[in-house]
Amino acid sequence: MKLNYTTQNQRLQVQIDANAVKDAFKQLAEFQEVFDEQQCGACESKNIYFRVRTVDGNDFFEMACKDCYAKLAFGQHKTGGGLFPKRKKQDGTFDRENKGWYKWNGNGN
Ligand SMILES: [Zn+2]
Repeated sequence: MKLNYTTQNQRLQVQIDANAVKDAFKQLAEFQEVFDEQQCGACESKNIYFRVRTVDGNDFFEMACKDCYAKLAFGQHKTGGGLFPKRKKQDGTFDRENKGWYKWNGNGN
């Protein structure tokens, strides 16, 4: 089965080619988790973009906001090449306020 999916902000489309419903579900879930971020979690701007920073040969995947400079970091699964948004605060609880988006203000706060 083939299905086409467009992200909620209409920016990206993906075609999923799956051999069964569970496979389609899995692929769609994987895609949505990474690519279906609609807006900045800090200021709600839709002016967000994908960014990869390479530091000492390691790639860091993140989304960034052009309006308030907040960013959402993605973690990398050890196998399979998958990514997941880091939505927890440093204390391990879910960041309900900004959904993982944070601003680096350079003084450690
Ligand atoms: Zn923002």
